[in-house]
Amino acid sequence: MSTTTVVAIDGPAGSGKSSVSRAAAADLGFAYLDTGAAYRALAWFCLERGIDTLGSNEITDALQEFDYAIGTDPDGYFVRVGDGDVTDDIREPRVTTVVSSVARVPEVRSYLVELFRSIIAGVPNDGIIVEGRDITTVVAPDAPVRILLTATEEARMGRRSAELTGVDASTTARELSSRDAQDSRVVDFMNAADGVTTIDSTDLDFDQTVQAVVSLVHSAVDKHRMRNP
Ligand code: C5P
Repeated sequence: MSTTTVVAIDGPAGSGKSSVSRAAAADLGFAYLDTGAAYRALAWFCLERGIDTLGSNEITDALQEFDYAIGTDPDGYFVRVGDGDVTDDIREPRVTTVVSSVARVPEVRSYLVELFRSIIAGVPNDGIIVEGRDITTVVAPDAPVRILLTATEEARMGRRSAELTGVDASTTARELSSRDAQDSRVVDFMNAADGVTTIDSTDLDFDQTVQAVVSLVHSAVDKHRMRNP
């Protein structure tokens, strides 16, 4: 393909989107964009500044000073706000707890959607995998490959509590489903939109899920080449 091939991946928390997208991007030689990191970084920024994360106007004002950068190399992932590296800080539970209320502000969403589109347009790679909640529907609805990555609630919760040591399974389950419930009020990432392929990873291991994504990308690229020889 002559222009950057965009692969859009959406899915709920704990579906393995981030790690699968990053590994698939590395395999394909594509860039990788974790959009959730931007919502998390803004939530972190609001907490640091003592901004009320329930106050839409204050959050919208904070965007003016939100100096954000993210690494799109799957092997060189970082997240920065100003001069500070916040790659680990944005995963803290205090950030996870408030991120959905920051992400529901319409001005935040339109600002970040534009930011994501400009990052996508600027990557030097042949392709980019972009993952989040509204990538297949809002950020890149015309992407040639659009995927909804799902798994049963039980599988997602099991995986997430295995990732988080020291947190009991029932707390993880409660937090995950309440975040999904809050996020689903803003965008539907539980049902595949028209033309979106669902990959259910419940019975797939990590490598099999990565390969399912990589195969879909290869067949989309081949189809495009056949149509545009
Ligand atoms: O993917 P991750 O769990 O890091 O996303 C953190 C939060 O960012 C989500 O719970 C959601 O509130 C928000 N988000 C979003 N739209 C996206 C990606 C993430 O609203 N495209």
